[in-house]
Amino acid sequence: MEIKQISEHIWSLKTWMIVPFHVWVVKEEDGVTLVDAGIGKMGKGILKFINGMDAGPLKRIVLTHGHPDHVGALKAILKENEVPVYVHKAEIPYMEGKKAYPGRKKPSANVTEHLVQPLMEDEAGNLNKIDSLEPYWTPGHAPGHVVYYHPEDGVLLAGDLFTSKNGKLYRPMPMFTYDMEEAVRSSRIVGELKPKRLEICHGKAVLNPADHLDQYIENTSNTYSIKEENVYKG
Ligand SMILES: [Zn+2]
Ligand SMILES: [Zn+2]
Repeated sequence: MEIKQISEHIWSLKTWMIVPFHVWVVKEEDGVTLVDAGIGKMGKGILKFINGMDAGPLKRIVLTHGHPDHVGALKAILKENEVPVYVHKAEIPYMEGKKAYPGRKKPSANVTEHLVQPLMEDEAGNLNKIDSLEPYWTPGHAPGHVVYYHPEDGVLLAGDLFTSKNGKLYRPMPMFTYDMEEAVRSSRIVGELKPKRLEICHGKAVLNPADHLDQYIENTSNTYSIKEENVYKG
């Protein structure tokens, strides 16, 4: 596993299996938050890194979404650390196998029941900050996909909302994205937050992604015949 400190409070942990897989460890005042749980074989390395970093205990795990390659090491990690696991409420029925993910024929249980709990939100449906991270709901790749922003470091942990190509934003993997138009609409969060650095699960990071967001929206909209007014409405 390849480990890299990407900002003052955040480390990225990467492994390869045809494509790269990243998870992120965020240093908090009194412990650490793990963002995503990767594939099964990452479990040992994630635990070893967290135990060795001398930043206090693992406090919680937050997930960008519930696809199998983002929850694979949960079991191994939870066996040694009884911590809460949070995900957007819209994702729970799919990842627990109660409903088939949109575009999939059959449901599949990626986690056991009651293992994950919903991220807290206010009455307007805005997700509450969770320690140093601000979650934002960004559906399209998965119904409950969430990105996590670290305002102090200016880093956006964007999960599978994008891939990247030549240092720029690129569309999420079409085979696993049920609604490309919705995903493109969700990409506008980048323009609102203007992160210095955007991290991607299955690709390289993108620096100052807001600078090429319009180009991304235009290119992806053209490729997938998405009408521009559908991206900018609402
Ligand atoms: Zn995914
Ligand atoms: Zn993924």
